Amino acid sequence: MNESIFRSIDRLVTYGVVTGLLPEVERIYATNLILDLLHLDSYDGVLLHDESVEKLIQKEPEKALESLLEPLVGYALDCKIIEDMQPLKDIFDSKLMNALTPRPQSVIDSFWKDYDESPESATLNYFRFSKNTNYIRRDRIARDEKWSGMTKYGRLEILVSLSKPELDPKAIAAARVAKSTGYPKCALCRENEGYAGRIDFAPRQNHRIIPFKLCGEAFSLQFSPYRYCHQHCIVLNDRHVPMAINESALSKLLEFVTLFPHYFLGSNTDLPYVGGSVLSHEHFQGGVHRLPIMDAVADRVFFSDQELELSTLYWPISTVRVRGKNRDRVLAMASKVLKTWRNGYRDDSVTIDPGTAEDPHNTLAPLACREGDEYVLFLMLRNNKRTEERPDGLYHTHPSRFHIKKEGIGIIDAPGLAILPPRLKGELAVVKEILLGKARLADHPEVEKHSSWMEEIRSRHDSFDPDTIDSVLRNEVVQVFMQMLEDCGVFKQTEEGRAAFERFMKRVLES
Ligand SMILES: [Zn+2]
Repeated sequence: MNESIFRSIDRLVTYGVVTGLLPEVERIYATNLILDLLHLDSYDGVLLHDESVEKLIQKEPEKALESLLEPLVGYALDCKIIEDMQPLKDIFDSKLMNALTPRPQSVIDSFWKDYDESPESATLNYFRFSKNTNYIRRDRIARDEKWSGMTKYGRLEILVSLSKPELDPKAIAAARVAKSTGYPKCALCRENEGYAGRIDFAPRQNHRIIPFKLCGEAFSLQFSPYRYCHQHCIVLNDRHVPMAINESALSKLLEFVTLFPHYFLGSNTDLPYVGGSVLSHEHFQGGVHRLPIMDAVADRVFFSDQELELSTLYWPISTVRVRGKNRDRVLAMASKVLKTWRNGYRDDSVTIDPGTAEDPHNTLAPLACREGDEYVLFLMLRNNKRTEERPDGLYHTHPSRFHIKKEGIGIIDAPGLAILPPRLKGELAVVKEILLGKARLADHPEVEKHSSWMEEIRSRHDSFDPDTIDSVLRNEVVQVFMQMLEDCGVFKQTEEGRAAFERFMKRVLES
């Protein structure tokens, strides 16, 4: 038998021990599980302890893991245990990682033991764990590109997310003929925990979730595998029930930031066309991150006393902010805003059309966080009216900006952190070469969609310097993102729009 495959197994098991996933006493047990996955029925009994490997794992666990998994996946390919398609390789390496990953109850016990010390250490340790199990694929996240830039509304942030694997055509074809099993019902259902995955469904064998109660209802905490910010989490209903923006949703957000005061938690809207990705399963998204909207200044204060403040923000997406020490009063005031907006608020002077009972337009995306002992709720007003000229939505990104992002502006984008598609990384590199005169647009049809934008950029600059062009381009992307957010604003930042926003706020106070 090939000795090197045994040593590769030893190294992966060593990774489990060094990262704390696997107790020393389970070394042989894990080795045997991995042998089985590789269709091996013998082992040379060496159980190699390799100090240089241990050091590498301690120093750079993400790099180490990639190099430890590779020979094992390669062996599985050579022996025809799996076919050479990325989703199948992901399924296989998740199975390998599951051999090192503790069972759910033990993960849950550790989480609440840490929580007794502090909520911060509970989520931080759980986050480290989720990276060590490779549920969060650090090697893919490391390729993400991020930057920020100033606008008239303050700082905005950009993330070009590369961690969602782009499917190869072979895998797409295989997925098309694969029979959908209807299990799990969706990617958010708790039935994903431990699920092996399919060619058309992400593997979750190495996934562990933390169940807890939110306003008396059974919910679970997990991280997003695509980390949009530090400790980017998803809080999901244990039942597959649809998204609903109502007083109960606002209450759940406030309860969550009571349990985890270092987090923000927000919700996409419950209507299509205005940002929601998965509408069929109630869930929230959060993270440990200061989002740009948290630094936005109040435009006008409409109510203020010792423990409560109601204001509108100077922000491209029309946002009402409710803040105060008294959680019940914050909730009551936010509910008034929600009800006034949702229950058919209309203003024909600024084309606010609430739609019909069958096709309601008014909804909002709420986001909660803490500032010291205060609760802060940001209520981002959204409207999904569609017209013939704007079939994607009148308050959706204007089509002239689809070259940067066509997808909806969701709960992470709206407060100022743009999640941009992976294609942009390569396209911006080509745009840069063209602006520098090193490449011709005619040779690069894939960036034709950026041609008017490139013209605008040229008109703003006399020349381009290879040393500064990256920052010029990055800043231009920030400005386009700002315009996208303005497109989504239901009350525009004009005199007319501000007056209309004020009328709405007065209606809230009268309610
Ligand atoms: Zn579901």
